[in-house]
Amino acid sequence: MNHAHQFYRARRDALLRTMREQSGGGVALIPTAPEVPRNRDSLYPFRHDSYFYYLSGFPEPELYHLGFAQADTCGRTIAENADIAIGAKVRMSENVINQAGMEPLKRAIRACEIAGGGAKVMCHIGGVATPELMSQILDALRQGDILTHCFTGFPNNAGKFTNIVQEGKLLPAALAAKKRGVLFDVGHGGGSFDFTVAEAAMQQGAMPDTLSSDIHVFSGNSPGMPYLTNVMGKFMALGFTLEQVVQMASAVPGRIINRAPMLGTLQVGAPADATLVDIVQGPVEFVDTRNNKRSGKVQIKPVQAVLAGIAYGRPYNAPFSPS
Ligand SMILES: [Zn+2]
Repeated sequence: MNHAHQFYRARRDALLRTMREQSGGGVALIPTAPEVPRNRDSLYPFRHDSYFYYLSGFPEPELYHLGFAQADTCGRTIAENADIAIGAKVRMSENVINQAGMEPLKRAIRACEIAGGGAKVMCHIGGVATPELMSQILDALRQGDILTHCFTGFPNNAGKFTNIVQEGKLLPAALAAKKRGVLFDVGHGGGSFDFTVAEAAMQQGAMPDTLSSDIHVFSGNSPGMPYLTNVMGKFMALGFTLEQVVQMASAVPGRIINRAPMLGTLQVGAPADATLVDIVQGPVEFVDTRNNKRSGKVQIKPVQAVLAGIAYGRPYNAPFSPS
């Protein structure tokens, strides 16, 4: 056990002791905000929280204690909520699972097998413990599972580079996963997108399937500014067309989610979600999460978002209006 592990265990033990001794047993209520009210934009969550912020308000990685990864309960919950639950997300970084190796991913796969109905694993990488573990993860992912933060350059706890591109070479296991139908998702975020990884991976055959922001309060304030339109702009700078980046950020993920017909499209009868953008021509410099810079010629600037027919930042349609 490393220092952090002991710290978390001590804190948990103290909490349990307090509950037992001072209240004669008790229940800890751990409030979490459902994804939709919190973000107003995520209709199909993989999970609510990545860290526990219980009582103390300090973050604690969710899988320092594997007891929290219960495949049967997770699988049942996914099955019971199949209208909105797509699958199980598991974070495989060393700073989340410590030295648990493949066990968390095995449990996520097992949960999806129990759930049935094509439940998918979304596997988060970035700083996995060893290069070998990275290949094992890639070998274990099934057709239709999602590798997210696929172009991360985040190092492991020792500062070592253990991602899908190592010393300029795409791992054979990554190419095999790609060919097997594992979906590669960008999930840029505040620490998970490296131009040098993306360029090498794409040159060697691992194209992204979906572009995504991983936007939250921390990532949104990071230098890479991973707003979805910026992520799309970065991939235009890497050679994709506007049509391609739009597809990869809308219709393709809509098809993968596979819940509402025509989700992510503008067809008649599709959910009325849309983002209006300006396409601004002119030089722009993009930054990744490791301070690599690339220049582009086009910037996509969001103007207005519409969700379920209601424009954000505008008054709701008045039910009382005269006509
Ligand atoms: Zn993640």
